[in-house]
Amino acid sequence: MAVATRIPLIAGNWKMHGTSDDSAELVSTLKKIVSGPRDAQMLLCPPFTYLVAVEKWLKGSNILLGAQNLSHWPSPGAYTGEVHGSMLKDVGCSFVIVGHSERRQLYGETDDLVVQKFQVAQEAGLTPILCVGETLEQHQKGKTESVVVEQIMAALMTAGVAAFSNAVIAYEPIWAIGTGHTATPDQAQKVHALIRSTIGEHDATISSDLRILYGGSVKGDNAKELFGMDDIDGGLVGGASLKAAEFAAIFRVALD
Ligand code: PEP
Repeated sequence: MAVATRIPLIAGNWKMHGTSDDSAELVSTLKKIVSGPRDAQMLLCPPFTYLVAVEKWLKGSNILLGAQNLSHWPSPGAYTGEVHGSMLKDVGCSFVIVGHSERRQLYGETDDLVVQKFQVAQEAGLTPILCVGETLEQHQKGKTESVVVEQIMAALMTAGVAAFSNAVIAYEPIWAIGTGHTATPDQAQKVHALIRSTIGEHDATISSDLRILYGGSVKGDNAKELFGMDDIDGGLVGGASLKAAEFAAIFRVALD
């Protein structure tokens, strides 16, 4: 986190976990920890069903609210089961995750669909967190760089570089998600620098202001090394974001 203009962001992706009571308790504990003005941002992305409640519970804190997904349809309408970006904005979200590897792998989301979601999010006034990352097989075959650049270019070519002035990228090696195997700080830094330089070929200022998060088994005890790297501006955290003390420990590292 070398560049002072990039405020570290620690985002918690709760995935499909928790009850209303669990969520209330988690928010209440985090609120006590994250009070007052801060040099880093904390973002919570609960399941859709708890967004409205979490937004109320977060009142009086600086903790931000985001969603884990949104519809790719440009306008609200007769799309059963879908949630439009404007609805997320309406209930207090400022961010939305797009292209998480679980969406890509389990729901067949393609780069084309992901960029549609990315654009709908921005049109609705949300900041998309665009997730990219390679599978274990791609990693082992030395394809990490080409896979990640392809995913970034798919968004860049369609949405244009200016769109990245209101976006966050999360590099999440799929082999590190929920596995306890974290990329080493050097491995992660190499990919983050590549992402930044890929954007930088199109606009140097946007690239240097762009926040690039690392995701994949981030914990309180590995966050310091990861966040200490020049191009890592925080984390997208899954499992550890469900435990208030662990998530708070990660957040504290980002404040240092
Ligand atoms: C994620 O799902 O985005 C993630 C990074 O999960 P975990 O922290 O559990 O690896």
